[in-house]
Amino acid sequence: MAIKQLTETIINQIAAGEVIERPASVVKELVENAIDAGATRIEVVTAGGGKNLIRITDNGSGIPSDELTLAVSRHCTSKLTDDVHDIRALGFRGEALPSIGSVSRLSVKSRTPQADSGFEISVHGGRMEGPRPTGMNAGTIAEVRDLFFATPARLKFMKTDRAEASAISDIVKRVAIAFPHIRFSLAGSDRTPLELAATGVGSAGMLDRISQVLGKEFPENAIAIDAERDGVRLTGFAGIPAFNRANSLHQFAYVNGRPVRDKQIWGAIRGAYADVISRDRHPVVVLFLNLDPALVDVNVHPAKADVRFRDPGLVRGLIVGAIRQALGQSGIRAATSGAEAMLQSFRLGGAQPLRPAPAAQASRWQDSAAVNQNYNVQQSAFRPFEQEQAPSYAGNGLAEAARSFLSESEVLATDTRASTAEVPQALLASPLGAARAQIHANYIVSQTEDSLIIVDQHAAHERLVYEALKNALHSRPLPAQMLLIPEIVDLPEEDVERLVAHAETLSRFGLGVEAFGPGAVAVRETPSMLGEIDTQQLIRDLADEIAEHDTSDGLKAILDHVAATMACHGSVRSGRRLKPDEMNALLRQMEDTPGSGTCNHGRPTYIELKLSDIERLFGRR
Ligand code: ADP
Ligand code: MG
Repeated sequence: MAIKQLTETIINQIAAGEVIERPASVVKELVENAIDAGATRIEVVTAGGGKNLIRITDNGSGIPSDELTLAVSRHCTSKLTDDVHDIRALGFRGEALPSIGSVSRLSVKSRTPQADSGFEISVHGGRMEGPRPTGMNAGTIAEVRDLFFATPARLKFMKTDRAEASAISDIVKRVAIAFPHIRFSLAGSDRTPLELAATGVGSAGMLDRISQVLGKEFPENAIAIDAERDGVRLTGFAGIPAFNRANSLHQFAYVNGRPVRDKQIWGAIRGAYADVISRDRHPVVVLFLNLDPALVDVNVHPAKADVRFRDPGLVRGLIVGAIRQALGQSGIRAATSGAEAMLQSFRLGGAQPLRPAPAAQASRWQDSAAVNQNYNVQQSAFRPFEQEQAPSYAGNGLAEAARSFLSESEVLATDTRASTAEVPQALLASPLGAARAQIHANYIVSQTEDSLIIVDQHAAHERLVYEALKNALHSRPLPAQMLLIPEIVDLPEEDVERLVAHAETLSRFGLGVEAFGPGAVAVRETPSMLGEIDTQQLIRDLADEIAEHDTSDGLKAILDHVAATMACHGSVRSGRRLKPDEMNALLRQMEDTPGSGTCNHGRPTYIELKLSDIERLFGRR
């Protein structure tokens, strides 16, 4: 085939392939144009998830009638002079309007404050018409109908109206956070309306806008950040560690007002919270970076969501330092030093595989009935200490103190005799040994022939449930238990949409979920295996998990995440007191389950201290 120049429309459609991925990208481009035009009110109306209609009305500077044709032509922009490194507006590529016009029916109506009337220009599948006069107020109305009608292949990739509508809400909220002085409204037949009134400027205005978007709990749970280094200014708010979420969708970062999704920034946030938040949870953070436009390249991708910093190390250091300092000042940082040296002597459970227990011992101790028969609460070493009458020294005389001390040691002596008699030698020989006590309502202390083991019962149980869930998934659906009264969970529309889309998958795990109006789901069944759970929290966490992995990963990955989330909820939460036979059963199950040395999040489920290490700790060796 001979080489020939592509037509303007084809060129624009190729560009559209990158710039306009879905209706939400159209909304992003048009809202950015309105912001660049200095608007203080921006109204967004959509229908059919933005596939049928997107209309954006602003009260900005407008486009002079003689520039309308240029506005919808490729490579025409009012925002860039000679220097591509000096980008001060959100737009600069001059390709949004022509791209949109090449794949939809676009109409742009605009009127400058000085003009007597407005003018309209339209571009349908790349064919331009106008400009012609039209009546309107000052400002601009951009209307996009039948998105992707000219590129049916792309249309096939669109999700449901609801999913696209919620992606539009997400992008409007994300952009709105950086421009609190602008009033945003979002309405249409496909959604519940959203109104973001203009708030003040400065830090207070920012915080007001953020709470409009993230909820009014945010300010109570966030610390203001304000730091500067070598001309880079960082402001914003860092959520306290306890105010965390199951995914990173609640992290917002802006570079010179532009919302960005930048790996380095996410990495820095993760680093800043590394000691204070568990690896599977995510802080809520809003960060604004402001710097000389010459120090950052935003021309990395046509969608303008990626950035490259001239000095990435500086930016990372600034973010990590500022967040840590903020958290530290508020006294929330966990103290993690001190135990370090001691910990080095402990062996992590996940490090080496458990030896399989010899068959004879295993069968003897898997027979929990036998354990039950021998179990006597009164004699047991496992009798919960908390239920004992704690000796009280306060206000008593010395003699009394001595007496109560004596009686306490007597109790302990009795216990020791009882437990020594009860610990079977066979159990001591198994890899995780014999359970001797439960402390702080979560740690099982067990003893083997030559070591002391501490098991995190919550983490261990979580791992076991997770493995069982995954196994059951490949055979037949898990048994479910009907709830007498269905539990109604209120959620954002987009979360309802995602959960309902995965209802069938969830039912395989024994979780029965259905839509209950636009803003809630009804839960009719829960997996029997999980026992009594906090259904509300489980559903919210699942919605978060699915939101995070829905578009990026395949079904298999989603299933894994769903299983992990459920396992976490069904687990023996710390705080539950276990009976000795329950503890031993847990230890035996761990021995039988490959990979049980680490929990679903990669943390160890038990640690082991060898007798020889204990002797070293006491300086005996
Ligand atoms: P870019 O934003 O990269 O310049 P666009 O194709 O999005 O490219 O827009 C082309 C031009 O049209 C802009 O540079 C601007 O001058 C004008 N324009 C677009 N939308 C608006 C608007 N809402 N108000 C005023 N001018 C606008
Ligand atoms: Mg633009």
